[in-house]
Amino acid sequence: EPKRKPLIAGNWKLNNNHLEAIALVQKLAFTLNDADFDTAEIVVLPPFTNLRSVQTLVDGDKLKIGYGAQDISAQEKGAYTGEISGSMLAKLGCTYALAGHSERREYHQEDDAVVNGKVKAAFAADITPILCLGEGLDVRKAGEHVPHTLAQLDGALKDVPAEQAARLVVAYEPVWAIGTGEVATPQDAQEVCRALRGRLGELYSDEVAGATRILYGGSVKGDNIAGIMDQDDVDGALVGGASLKPEEFVKLARLGR
Ligand code: PEP
Repeated sequence: EPKRKPLIAGNWKLNNNHLEAIALVQKLAFTLNDADFDTAEIVVLPPFTNLRSVQTLVDGDKLKIGYGAQDISAQEKGAYTGEISGSMLAKLGCTYALAGHSERREYHQEDDAVVNGKVKAAFAADITPILCLGEGLDVRKAGEHVPHTLAQLDGALKDVPAEQAARLVVAYEPVWAIGTGEVATPQDAQEVCRALRGRLGELYSDEVAGATRILYGGSVKGDNIAGIMDQDDVDGALVGGASLKPEEFVKLARLGR
């Protein structure tokens, strides 16, 4: 019995229009069976413009696939051109939203304060934030990856109360492993995920730390996920590239088995 139900989330990034999204979700639904959904929670994160189509498909066919957004505004409404709010996402049936993906941090200058606003906005809308954090290559080479990621966690959770933190998902994604084909070793993943869980215990309680799912992300594929999932403090994966290929994502959803 795993302590926490594994979560496999597919981050499609800037790929697939709404028709392609429907085709991909249909392929996943056709292949995945009830046992797969008992083993793991399976979630896709398409671009915003696909969410309505995915909602219609999931609701119409009573699919067990969950879905969410790749980003969320820290604002609720008003003069924020181009932003999408948590309540808009919730209305579309989204149950998850990424907050602070490294590509948002890098290309949209999202710092820990911005990410903190997004985490709070997600909780306020009853959406589970998947808080993404992780060090770049320079930090890894300097051996500072643990303090770096813990500081990101502290910053993102500033003033987030324990009742909310208990529903959080964290994704440890070393930037040097994202989209590079260079996967962290299972031991690398475990080291940081364990440290993150320890910090959740310090910030909140053992109960919160024990309930929080901590994912690894960075070049996860069907043939390397099993070793990562074997680690005590890794509860699933956030998957980019491999989530676009139906057979590969099914293998991931089955935890490599
Ligand atoms: C990601 O974007 O979250 C990710 C892990 O990408 P990839 O699997 O392609 O490395």
